Formats: sequence, C-alpha cells, structure tokens
Amino acid sequence: MKIGKNAITVLEKRYLKKDENGKNIETVEQMFRRVADAIAAADAAYDDKADVKKLSDRFYELMTNLEFLPNSPTLMNAGKELGQLSACFVLPVGDSMEEIFEAIKQAALIHKSGGGTGFSFSRLRASGATVRSTGGVASGPVSFMRVFNMATEAVKQGGTRRGANMGILRVDHPDILDFIDCKKNNADITNFNISVGITEAFMQAVQNGDTYELVDPKSKQAAGELEAREVFHKIVESAWRNGEPGIIFLDRLNRDNVVPSQGEIESTNPCGEQPLLPYESCNLGSINLVTMLAKDKNGWRIDYKKLERTVEDAVHFLDNVIDVNKYPLEEIDFTTKQTRKIGLGVMGWSDMLAYLGMSYNSEEAVALAGEVMKFITETGRRASARLAKVRGAFPLFGESIFAAGEPLRNATITTIAPTGTLSIIAGCSSGVEPVFAYVFIRNVMDGTEMIEVNPVLRETLEARGLYSDELMKKIAAEGTLQHIDEIPDDIKRVFVCSHDVSPLYHVKMQAAFQKHTDNAVSKTVNFAHNATMEDVEEVYMLAYELDCKGVTIYRDGSRAEQVLNIGSVK
Ligand code: UDP
Repeated sequence: MKIGKNAITVLEKRYLKKDENGKNIETVEQMFRRVADAIAAADAAYDDKADVKKLSDRFYELMTNLEFLPNSPTLMNAGKELGQLSACFVLPVGDSMEEIFEAIKQAALIHKSGGGTGFSFSRLRASGATVRSTGGVASGPVSFMRVFNMATEAVKQGGTRRGANMGILRVDHPDILDFIDCKKNNADITNFNISVGITEAFMQAVQNGDTYELVDPKSKQAAGELEAREVFHKIVESAWRNGEPGIIFLDRLNRDNVVPSQGEIESTNPCGEQPLLPYESCNLGSINLVTMLAKDKNGWRIDYKKLERTVEDAVHFLDNVIDVNKYPLEEIDFTTKQTRKIGLGVMGWSDMLAYLGMSYNSEEAVALAGEVMKFITETGRRASARLAKVRGAFPLFGESIFAAGEPLRNATITTIAPTGTLSIIAGCSSGVEPVFAYVFIRNVMDGTEMIEVNPVLRETLEARGLYSDELMKKIAAEGTLQHIDEIPDDIKRVFVCSHDVSPLYHVKMQAAFQKHTDNAVSKTVNFAHNATMEDVEEVYMLAYELDCKGVTIYRDGSRAEQVLNIGSVK
C-alpha cells in the first residue's frame, strides 16, 4: 500500500478495530478488507450467484490504491456491530418541547455513531411569543440551539469523532438578527456551523434596496419587516468578523429537490454539501483525482477510462452502503431508502491541477472542473441506471423529477465533500480546495523538526534539482512560493496556495463544480486578514450570481484557534 505515515497515525488512532481495552486488533489492510467484505456482501441480496469475493477484491483494490474512499463512518464502522455508515443526516425540529428534545436525543444517537446532523430551527416560534400551556413566553431558536450544542459537547467524549451540527434559520424568521450574531463570541455554540437560509424574495429585495417581510412560523402571518440590505450587511459583517454565518440559498436547494412531493428541503448536513429532507441520511465517497492521471510522452493527462471504471464501481459501492448500513433510527432507515441518495465526489483536485501544469487561478482550470465533474455525474447516473435494471429504481422514482426518463437506483449521485480526514488518508489535497500551504514544519515531541512537503511540489522540485531543506523552510515561513527568488516563474504559476487564489477564482471554481453536481459543494473562500467587508460582500453576491447553493468564507486570523495557519512554524 502507498499509504503515508500521517495516514497510518490517523487510522491507528481512530479507525482501526479495537478490543475492550482500546488496543488495535486489526491492521490497516485488515480494516480495508473488513470494509470491502461488508459492503460487497450486499450483492448477494440481489443475485444468489453474485461473486461477492471478486467484488470485495475490487473494492479492496479501489481503497488500498487510494483511488476511492467512502466517508469516515463507513471506514470506521462497516462490518462491526455498530454498523452506522453515513456521514450526513438532517433531523426535523418541531415547535414543541417534545419535538425539540426528541431531536436532541436523535442527534445524540447519531453523533455517537460518527454522523453529523443538520437542523433548521425555522419552525420554532420567535422569542417572546406566547406559550399557551404555561402562559409564559418562548425563548426562541437561538436559546434552544445552545441546548443542542451542550448535548453535542457531552456526547463528544463517548463518540468515535466530534459531533458536528449545522444550524439554519430562514432569513424571514423574526429572530434572524439574534441568529446572525449568535456566534459573535468565538467560544459560543462551537459545535455548530450556522447558515442563514436565504430566499429568492430576500435577494430581490437586497438588489432593489427594498424591505422584506418577516413571517411568524406558527401563524404564517407577516410579523414585521426589515431592510433587506441592512440584514445582508449584518450577515456580511458577521462573516467578516469570524467566518459565520454562511449563507445557503434555500430556494435553489428546493429547485433541485428531486422528489418535491416529499416536502421542503430545509437544511443541509454540517459542512453544507448535502441538502436532505428531514430524516434522510446520505453516505458520501470520494475519488482521489491524482490517481486518475496517466503519463504519456506529452506528460500527465486524465485517464478518463480509468475514471469511468472508478465512478461505476464507486456508485455500486455507495448503493451497497445504503443496504448494509445500520441506521440509528427506524424513520431514518425508511426515509433514506425511499430516495437512496448517494454523494460521490472528488478529492486531490488541486494536486491534479499541479500535475497537469494548470494554475487553480485560471480559466483553464475552471473549464476543466466543469468537464471532469460533468463526466463524473453523467457516468455515475449511467451506473445508477444500470443498477436500477437489476435492483429496481429508488422507491419514489415515480414521484421524482426523473419519472419520465430511464429508471435510476439513486435520486442523487454526486456531492463534493470536504474530505477532511479522507484526504489525509489518501495523502492528497482536500476536496476541490486549493492547497492551504505547500510546506509545513512540524515540531515533534523530542524537539526535532519535521518538514512536510506537498508530494507534487517535492517531485517537481526534485526533478529540476531545486529541492533543499533550506528552501522548504523558507516556503514554510513565507506560507507561499510566490515571493521566493529561487523558485522559477512556471512553478510559481502552478503552485498557488489558498491565499494566492483570488476570492473570485475560489467562487468561480465552486460554481464550475456546482453546475455538474447533484447536491452541493463544500468550499471555503479564503480571505487575507486585511480583506474588507466589501470584499466579503462581493463574494456573497458573486456566489448568488454564479448559481452556487451557498457560500462560506473565512478571513485569516479572524478566530483565535484556527485549524490551519500560514507562514507560521508549528
Ligand atoms: N462530519 C462530522 N464530524 C466530523 C467531520 C465530518 O459529522 O468531525 C460529517 C459532516 O456531515 C460532514 C461530512 O461528515 O459534512 C463529510 O466531512 P468530511 O468529508 O470532512 O469527512 P471524512 O469522510 O473525510 O472524515
């Protein structure tokens, strides 16, 4: 296996099967075999002559070659008693004590099993509204979010990974101003990402400089109005201050709701890439694009034949996950199997561009993003149609927007996940993000320094005889290659990191992938510390104009404990 040192550390710590004393009782290879066997076994239900062993070998090969990896819960839990395999869930939150605390309980069960939950709090009555049974006043969505947050905090210790939540409030909810500010203090509601659910009517009002109506969630009657531009500026200011709230375009999520008869999509999963109906779950998987390259006499090119085969097998894999999965709730089991949504995406995009000699910051790369993702979604849909011939279409197919066409096994095929851990396991750049920093210096416990260099950069510099530890330390301290004299211009052009990519290209790249992705795209637009609120506003508007489903930004240094730092020797 080509698996790197960091990958092994992550897997040993959190993914390998353990005995009661917490001691690992499987190797990395055995983990992949456990997963491959468990997922391949689903074929037997459709065909008693299915060659499950052969399929397991193929799945094992895909994973150990780091060509395709399913989301973390599948790696952690497949073939084990827990058996919960999905990363993403959305739960409804109704406007009663029973429903609120039921949702908290359900979320706790999901977090314990390694999944993340998204909620819309838009159905909760506004703060100050009357509570009929007690004659008192309601405390409003934000105060209940704090309870969800505390519950997540408590479950954290027992779970396999940190529980993550998405909290959404519609822009026309009477408590919207409180919501926008609810994470003003960096120490507050830390287990939530928050997004304002933006409506088309609101965006029109922003563009026209109008007011817009607030709506009482209970009576559905008008409950006052606000200046749309003032609210928009408040969102932007808050995001500029510390990265939140993001925004999601609710009407676009519903425009692309493939089974409108099932009601409205109100929320996404925690990182925003997977819109779901209440009680739906989705399992994700990502293809490592670096492994989809082939070298010929003209240099590196995309091996579309290999990509095609990988997509087909990945769709088969993810469809099997739905069957093998042990769902944390009966309702989730039922709802998930009604649509059988899967979320196949990519990682290593930025590394692949480097091999191809393209800059992330270029029209050429934006065009290629559309081409690659179109290929993946179209190939994936064909694979799903083939599965439907044998296994049947997803049960709600007849009510779906696809009803007039060829039956499909899965209501959605593609999603672009952040691949936070998967990309560490695969040793490639995460999702469709630019590389954050090409060189890190890690201080190891005994005081020695370890230089970690992006493998594509290392290869490129070594081939040109330019590699040295001294140069790497310089890049690590600078955070970027752009101002280093020893680096030739053609290398500078290609090896652009997050902060070298203009916000414009961050959004253009997101939009290019979104255009050919069924669900949504996980993407953060990175800003330099000195970016202005106007810069942030421009990006929010651009994401709207380019038909993104949402946008998340982060301004360097705007939170005390940020995960990644540039230009700092750690
Ligand atoms: N997620 C979660 N907790 C985490 C990380 C991720 O619940 O600590 C969920 C969340 O729904 C997120 C999804 O997993 O949107 C995918 O995240 P990512 O691709 O980073 O996960 P990976 O499979 O790489 O661990």
